[in-house]
Amino acid sequence: TRTPLVAGNWKMNFDHREATYFVQKFAWLLRDAKFDFRRCEVALFPPFTSIRSVQVLVEADRLRIRYGAQAVSVTSQGAFTGDVSADMLAHLGCSYVIVGHSERRKYHPEDDANIVDQVRAVLAAGMQPILCVGESFEERRQGIELDFAVSQVHDVTRDLSVDEAAKLIVAYEPVWAIGTGMVATPQSAQDAARAIREHMRTQFDAKTADAVRILYGGSVTSRNAVQLIQEPDVDGFLIGGASLDPDELALIARLA
Ligand code: 13P
Repeated sequence: TRTPLVAGNWKMNFDHREATYFVQKFAWLLRDAKFDFRRCEVALFPPFTSIRSVQVLVEADRLRIRYGAQAVSVTSQGAFTGDVSADMLAHLGCSYVIVGHSERRKYHPEDDANIVDQVRAVLAAGMQPILCVGESFEERRQGIELDFAVSQVHDVTRDLSVDEAAKLIVAYEPVWAIGTGMVATPQSAQDAARAIREHMRTQFDAKTADAVRILYGGSVTSRNAVQLIQEPDVDGFLIGGASLDPDELALIARLA
């Protein structure tokens, strides 16, 4: 009953001209394949400077492709040089915002408190946060990867209401799998997704846990997507490298 979500995180790739070219080609590929957007949602995450170009195309051609941002400010306006607010993103037609991506946690001072505030800002602006969690190689070596991912979810969601939690999307992205070509096995993606869902069940309720979509991210390609999506608790993908090729992303969306 959960609609799969295939999300392309472009990271710091594609200026607004390249984004325009991508969307035109991608939309054509999906149309040509008679892609059913009711069966599977598709979303793109351009850099801030390319979002407006995506919006213009989506509105002009009434595309059913969704889009969002890769990060957001925790404040609504004011003297915060370089930041972009949740309302600004909502006014650009963004449906989602990625929150707590491991690259943001690494290169920017994003701790749990900041990530909680981002989640709240996104929800308050009427969008859905995609909360990224996942262990590094060290936690996996110690065999504590499930506890680690669940505790990351817990730290961010513990003060949310049930209504807020129901709008959350979680992306399980083991850090060692990101950009390495070392994809998690379907079983370990499933184990993590299940552990996160069970945690949501305990912390909130069964209805919320059953509704929350849990994505897998980390070296997803058209060659491993089919096996991963067959797992009962894996509801889609957050895709980096493979999302930069419109043919590849369209193929993954068709397989999901
Ligand atoms: P790759 O698909 O390039 O491994 O990146 C995953 C990711 O970080 C998506 O957010």
